[in-house]
Amino acid sequence: MISVDSHTLETAHAQCSCGYDLHSVWVSPHPKRKRRKFWYGVFWGVSGGRPDRIVWACRLCGEQLAESTDPTLLIRYRHE
Ligand SMILES: [Zn+2]
Repeated sequence: MISVDSHTLETAHAQCSCGYDLHSVWVSPHPKRKRRKFWYGVFWGVSGGRPDRIVWACRLCGEQLAESTDPTLLIRYRHE
């Protein structure tokens, strides 16, 4: 699994076992949250807001291709 940010996402090369890359329709970003951040969210009034990281995973084989903690991407994919 590679780490990407908003600048390297477009050019990052990562393939799962099926041969799909980050931009394939079978690979989608998933927001990941840690439960301990719940009170943090309440405190800041952004409960249910920003996830901790985004993980791109293939829906066919389940393999995780990339992850990111870039705030720009966290906001972009927080609802997907
Ligand atoms: Zn796959």
